[in-house]
Amino acid sequence: METSEVTGALIITGASRGIGAATARLAATQGYRICVNYLNDAAAAEAVVTDIENNGGQAIAVQADTSRSSEIDKLFRAVDTELGTLAGLVNNVGILGPQCRVDQLDEERLHRILTTNVAGYFLCAKQAVLRMSTAHGGRGGAIVNVSSAASRLGSPGEYVDYAASKGAVDTFTRGLALEVAAEGIRVNAVRPGFIYTDIHASGGDPQRVARLAAGLPMRRGGQPQEVAQAIVWLLSERASYVTGSFIDLAGGR
Ligand code: NAD
Repeated sequence: METSEVTGALIITGASRGIGAATARLAATQGYRICVNYLNDAAAAEAVVTDIENNGGQAIAVQADTSRSSEIDKLFRAVDTELGTLAGLVNNVGILGPQCRVDQLDEERLHRILTTNVAGYFLCAKQAVLRMSTAHGGRGGAIVNVSSAASRLGSPGEYVDYAASKGAVDTFTRGLALEVAAEGIRVNAVRPGFIYTDIHASGGDPQRVARLAAGLPMRRGGQPQEVAQAIVWLLSERASYVTGSFIDLAGGR
């Protein structure tokens, strides 16, 4: 991907590993000043920052639980102070629970998934819109929400709660895109299929990864970098007339 003249800060939530870390590294090569948000793995987040700096980029790591509005406020204020004008947000944080059917679902798990995967996206987007919208004196920007192929597939018998949370992300993407389309902000989503990251360690079935990959049309899962390419394109001026759209990165699934 060629280097362009992007100036501005980019917040990527849950960026210490997986798709978020790959996106942070790639977006830094495009000129963004990167905020690597993390929950509790400070060493991994600092390693992403060091990679970016060694490559000539600028980045900071900021600890914040994006399921809590007070922590989100802290995250955005840190970026205001340390990185300056916000150009974009990647809502990337996502959690799964162990595989279970709805008749085994407990209330605490359900609330944790919905709060993290849905409410956190809304509250981060709110802070980004307050800074980037021309209606609020901003200069525009872009938001990319990381949804999932699960929003289409429903994940029966495994993660119906997670799949439904991603369905909400899709609807939020569409609605917010229309809400702020005239205010200089584009809002899009990516829908990864099966990507090789540590999120699958929480699934509870160690054989699931190999079984899933073998059953896919391309006979393999995706790499985090393959998702990052689409996210960074959606953020960029190359996608200047794209809003309210979805890119499926599911190897044909
Ligand atoms: P991952 O588990 O490797 O990374 C997620 C990161 O989010 C972790 O670093 C975790 O610490 C962080 N996080 C979790 N809760 C947080 C919180 N409350 N506040 C701040 N950070 C928090 O997962 P990944 O596979 O890279 O997933 C990234 C996104 O991609 C998620 O939204 C996920 O639902 C989505 N996705 C992943 C796949 C896949 O197969 N890996 C498929 C479809 C969608």
